Amino acid sequence: MAKIHRLTPQQPGMFRAHVLRAERISPSMHRVTVTGTELKDFPWQGYDHWFRLFLRLPHQHTLHLPEFSGPHWYQPYLAIPEDERPHCANYSVAGFRPDTAEMDIDFVVHRGRDGEIEGRAAIWACQTQPGDTLAVLDQGILFDCPPDATGVVIVADETGLPATTGILRSLPQDTVGRVIQEVPTTADRRPLEAPPGVSVTWVVRDGDGSVGGTGALRELRRLTSVDATSYAFVVGESTLAREGRRHLNRLGLAKNRITFSGFWRHAASAAAS
Ligand SMILES: Cc1cc2nc3c(=O)[nH]c(=O)nc-3n(C[C@H](O)[C@H](O)[C@H](O)COP(=O)(O)OP(=O)(O)OC[C@H]3O[C@@H](n4cnc5c(N)ncnc54)[C@H](O)[C@@H]3O)c2cc1C
Repeated sequence: MAKIHRLTPQQPGMFRAHVLRAERISPSMHRVTVTGTELKDFPWQGYDHWFRLFLRLPHQHTLHLPEFSGPHWYQPYLAIPEDERPHCANYSVAGFRPDTAEMDIDFVVHRGRDGEIEGRAAIWACQTQPGDTLAVLDQGILFDCPPDATGVVIVADETGLPATTGILRSLPQDTVGRVIQEVPTTADRRPLEAPPGVSVTWVVRDGDGSVGGTGALRELRRLTSVDATSYAFVVGESTLAREGRRHLNRLGLAKNRITFSGFWRHAASAAAS
């Protein structure tokens, strides 16, 4: 497999931007396209490039950004009084067009028990209008495939779909491997530009009542062997990330060949820990 070249940010940069348009691209995914002169310099690396997104609070007209230097943004952020502190959430670059300085961000539209959209970022995405201001703090990429990897295993729920999409677009064409991608509904599946040697298995919940990530984990557990020289990337609900890594490790994949990240936490997972 060809070597993957990439950079991680030395100095995470903050980029201010505004909303250009927003649209529902599938039943569970709302795409917000943002732009701005500062975004021209966003050092997009492809793969699962992610960032911290800062949003104004519902009662605010403007975004209050923390003053920060280098990687030290958290303390200045916390120093902002709570009722003025912007909401901060983590998102992946779903698409980036440097010529027009446009970035797409795909927000999972998640709902509470009453069916109402929940989550401040998801609510913001579904209500935002052109001109709305925001900022992104570059965090680089998590995908960390060793140069000697003979194949990849990528497992994700819908919060990892933008990451999966970006990784598949960025991988060398001679990459071989397997993707297990969970989505809430059949219509949330999308065409993926994967190298020909990478197979994609979609897992669809279709209202079966299970928590996001459960189906992808079940599918991953059907794997009974894995090449010890592979590399795995497992992201999504925290149980999927943790138990997916455990399963792959039991099959013989070393922990340093597995990137795993809990992208969100279901209440039951949070209560169990
Ligand atoms: C590196 C990284 C990249 C990510 N990329 C993306 C991305 O591109 N697109 C994306 O949609 N998410 C992505 N996520 C996940 C996203 O950060 C979380 O889902 C986040 O909680 C959403 O913020 P919120 O303000 O909408 O919800 P919060 O205010 O954080 O949560 C409110 C409630 O909603 C629940 N909740 C949060 N997310 C979900 C969900 N997806 N399904 C069901 N319930 C949920 C929480 O458990 C909580 O009870 C990423 C996370 C990481 C760490």
